[in-house]
Order: sequence, then structure tokens, then C-alpha cells
Amino acid sequence: MFETLKEQPADKILMLMQAYKEDPRDTKIDLGVGVYKDTSGNTPIMRAIKAAEGKLLETETTKAYTGLAGDPGFSDAMVNLVLGDAVPRDTVAAAATPGGTGAVRQGFDMIRSANPQARVFVSDPTWPNHLSILKHMGIEMVPYRYFDDETRGVAFDAMLEDIGKAKKGDVVLLHGCCHNPTGANLNMSQWKEVVASLQKTGATPMIDIAYQGFGDGLDADAAATRLVASSVPECLIAASCSKNFGIYRERTGLLMAVSQDASARKLNQGTLNYLNRQNFSFPPDHGARLVTMILSDDSLRADWMAELEEMRTLMLSLREQLASELQRLSGSDRFGFIAQHRGMFSRLGTTPEMVEKLRADHGIYMVGDSRLNIAGLNKNTVPILAKAIVDVGI
Ligand code: PMP
Repeated sequence: MFETLKEQPADKILMLMQAYKEDPRDTKIDLGVGVYKDTSGNTPIMRAIKAAEGKLLETETTKAYTGLAGDPGFSDAMVNLVLGDAVPRDTVAAAATPGGTGAVRQGFDMIRSANPQARVFVSDPTWPNHLSILKHMGIEMVPYRYFDDETRGVAFDAMLEDIGKAKKGDVVLLHGCCHNPTGANLNMSQWKEVVASLQKTGATPMIDIAYQGFGDGLDADAAATRLVASSVPECLIAASCSKNFGIYRERTGLLMAVSQDASARKLNQGTLNYLNRQNFSFPPDHGARLVTMILSDDSLRADWMAELEEMRTLMLSLREQLASELQRLSGSDRFGFIAQHRGMFSRLGTTPEMVEKLRADHGIYMVGDSRLNIAGLNKNTVPILAKAIVDVGI
């Protein structure tokens, strides 16, 4: 029977990783896949994670199932990290999921359960997995304009015009911070306008926040999510711990459903539990437990925050170095946007042909839409990249 299956398109980023591996040039630079790398090109296990794992090894007494929504301590710690005191805790239903992707997937499932006709408005461009999961689930999607190819910032008027067409029963998917793949983000006054649009149309926001702490800091990166959650009747939030705790393979995420009152919360919580049960039963616990231990222990938390801050400031300094190197070599300010963008990624805004030329002529690997992973650079490779960008004529 399986011969009836259709071939699925290969994942472009994974293909790129393979091509990079096979490239014999020792000057090659990998700016493709979205994992944080330190100055030596490693993706380290964070100190606080190692310490928590040591403690857990000694103190864990059972591997029996947790609850369907995972450990309540994890939900509390993460709701606090993401939402602070923006909304009363008893209005937030939450369930642990396998990674941020699991949270996104469960969120879409909740939307489809509530309204099979819901359309999901997605930024153009967005993280490709948003599109492929929506397509797989048969949910209608409507792109909204987001990236301005000229300024490499947000095409805000166009975005507002497009999300203004959403209706009650539709969902507007927003990136809480550090937009993937562009790196271009709204400022707070623009977020207020987005909130006003949502209030006017009655559409439900869903926020994907996968890079809290990678942009302007833990609280600053959550500010938009907090503003939205406290200003609309209901919203979904899909949070990932993969990047900011560096626990990619542990699959640690949380889906939150914020409502107006405790009775709506009960219905939402029951739905989140039910959806976990149907899709995978109990969520993974190891990563969630480490995160909970770190967030609820003053010294582990302080150390985690300090290391996250080192990672964030390293990425910022690479951005600044690259922007100024490009300014020097090109004699123009047209690359200033790289220092303005936030998070791990920047979209150069060039053609797939130029991206291919960078790969073929210079061994520089980035995603075909010209997304580059800033964390793939170090202070020695920044000048090499800058020279290559100017040489190929971007
Ligand atoms: N959302 C966005 C926008 C992302 O970039 C990512 C990571 N690539 C995720 C969600 C989820 O990541 P994970 O499933 O690894 O936690």
C-alpha cells in the first residue's frame, strides 16, 4: 500500500548541511542551519544545563509518566519567563510539547479543533515549517507582506493592511521576537498598532517565540508577547527552549492558551491535554525538568542568564563588525540593516543566484532565500564574508 505515497520534497536546510559536509575546502563557512555556535564553531551545552543534569542524575528517583500537560512546575516556570506578570496566571492554560515545533503543531491543532474554517495569516516570509505544517494539516493560510526588499526592514504599512483583512475566527501568526528568517522586527509602537488591528478585526493572535534572550534581552524580547497577551481576549503562544537553553535535541517547548477568565482556561487546558494525548500522550520531560531546575534555583538561573547574555552580545558584536566591514569595503551604508536586525538570522535580500555564487566561488553556505546565521561567524570569518559579498556584487 505504501507505493501510493508521494515523494516528499527534501528539506532545503538539511540538504545544505549535507553539501557543506561534503565540501573539501577548508575555508568553507557554514551560515545555514539555525543553531547557535560559539567562537570555535561549537554548539556548547550551557553551564547551567550541565550543572542541572549532574544534580538530576543524583536526585531523580523515577522515570514514571508525568501528566499529559507535562510537569506543572515547568509550565509555571515558563509562563513566568515568557509572560511575567502581564496576565493573571489563572487565565493561562499550558502544556509541554516536543520542542517549539510541537507547540506550533499543537497550537494549529487547537485552532483547527475550534474552527475548521480558520485561516492562518502568516508573514511572507516565515519559518518554512509553519507553512509545511499548515499545509500538511489542511489549514488555509493567507500570507501577509512583511519584509521590505529595499530597506531590509519590516514593510509595516503593507503588513497592517494585510492583517487588517483577517476576520474573527481567523488567526494571525506572529513571531514574538527575532523574526526567522529575516531578522527584521517590529518596534513597540508598531506592536501597539498590531494590537489595535487585532482588537478591531477580532482575529486571534498566535505568537511563536523561539528566540527569547537572543535579541535585546530576556524581558525586552518578551515585551511584545506580553503586550499582545494582555490586550486581546484570547491568544496562543508557542515557546521553544531549544535555543535559549541550548537543548535542541531534548525537544522542549510549551504551548500556552491565554483566555479571559478561569472557566475558559479550564476548557483550554482540557483541550491541550486531550490534544497531547491524541498526538503523543506524555510530552518529553528531561529538557523540561532541566529548564525548571534552572529557572527555580537562584544561582543556576543567574548563571544561565549570564551565559545567555554572553551569547546574545557575541551575536550583536558580530552584526556590528559585519555591518562596518561591509560599509568600509562597499563604501556605502546599504548594509546597515545587519546591525539593526536581531536574533540569529539576517536576510541579505539578494537573489538565489548570488547565494549560489557565494557557495560556488567562496565556500560560503547560506539558505537560498539569503538567510544567514550570524552565529555561524566569528571575528576572523566576518572580513572573509564581507569581502565575498562585495566581490560577488551584492
Ligand atoms: N519557531 C521558529 C520561528 C523557529 O525558528 C524554530 C526553530 N528553528 C522553532 C519554532 C522551533 O524549534 P524547536 O522545535 O527546535 O524547539
